[in-house]
Amino acid sequence: MSELNQLRERIEEINIAILDLLSERGEIAKQIGLEKRKAGTMIYDPMREKEMINKLQDLNKGPYDDNVIKQLFKEIFKASTELQKSENEKHLYVSRKLKSDDTIVTTANGGVIGGDEKIFVFGPCSVESYEQVEQVAENLVEKGQKFIRGGAFKPRTSPYDFQGLGVEGLKILKEINKKYDLAVISEVVDPHHFEMADPYIDIYQIGARNMHNFELLKEAGRSNKPVLLKRGLSATIEELIYAAEYIHASGNSNIIICERGIRTYEKATRNTLDISAVPILKQGTHLPVLVDVTHSTGRKDIMLPVAKAALAVGADGVMAEVHPDPSVALSDAGQQMDLNEFDLFYKEIEQARKLYR
Ligand code: PEP
Ligand code: MN
Repeated sequence: MSELNQLRERIEEINIAILDLLSERGEIAKQIGLEKRKAGTMIYDPMREKEMINKLQDLNKGPYDDNVIKQLFKEIFKASTELQKSENEKHLYVSRKLKSDDTIVTTANGGVIGGDEKIFVFGPCSVESYEQVEQVAENLVEKGQKFIRGGAFKPRTSPYDFQGLGVEGLKILKEINKKYDLAVISEVVDPHHFEMADPYIDIYQIGARNMHNFELLKEAGRSNKPVLLKRGLSATIEELIYAAEYIHASGNSNIIICERGIRTYEKATRNTLDISAVPILKQGTHLPVLVDVTHSTGRKDIMLPVAKAALAVGADGVMAEVHPDPSVALSDAGQQMDLNEFDLFYKEIEQARKLYR
């Protein structure tokens, strides 16, 4: 046998010996994990890791540099920590790996989001008056809809723009809910709003601007109603999933995610609808996913094909804004459908919906 082949053979023997030792180490690490769990101590112990690395560096005779030894063992420690975690700790609560069946969100009026049938959430951008909301509500009931949206607390870009009717707006929505049996979806912007809005709202909305408001997310987690969480203006899908995790980790699993477009350099639409977020969120989480075609496109002329695309890629429903007279709307006047435009949109999207049941 040539010298090279002999050396290679020895290297392979050493590989196998290292592998055996790693396997033995892994088994012991798992046992340590069980002991730690019994004792209620943290799995990750940085002080202990540091001690072990210092000792190894002291014993290091080369030829590897101390830093190389440190990096190699850090990888081994990381793998051991992963082994010590339970299945629950390895995955997020919202992950489909932890719960493979779909989360289905229901409302008292029989509304179902995330079930076999795709749904719609329509309604004005802002609640402006009882009559304004009622005109939309009547139209929705004629169409057999179960939900209505409308903002009472509006996070506006300019402090001089209409900020919403506040509690008065919520009271209007409650009247509509009582009269028309539509489940009400409305945004809250302050952790104290959950308790205050509880009598009036069926599904709390957390808007794009508050997706990173962790105190609001935690309070949403402590509430006992479903939460519709919108993607932040420049949030990655991972950040959106973590925002949902905040709600779930605080105790509320009734979460609906809403893709509403993100900010990019593209100016042809108000935001860029990230259509691929829909199947990614459906694969990665067990939560229902809606697509808001109003705030993503900002363009009534393309809302219908975009809504169809959303259903085609697996969204559980579509959200869009409808106003009896958008020309006088106090917010988003340019992109809310009037009732005639809405009829045309609805006829087509309802056909599309049936295709994807
Ligand atoms: C809304 O849906 O009323 C709204 C303000 O949307 P976003 O938070 O997505 O901008
Ligand atoms: Mn709006």
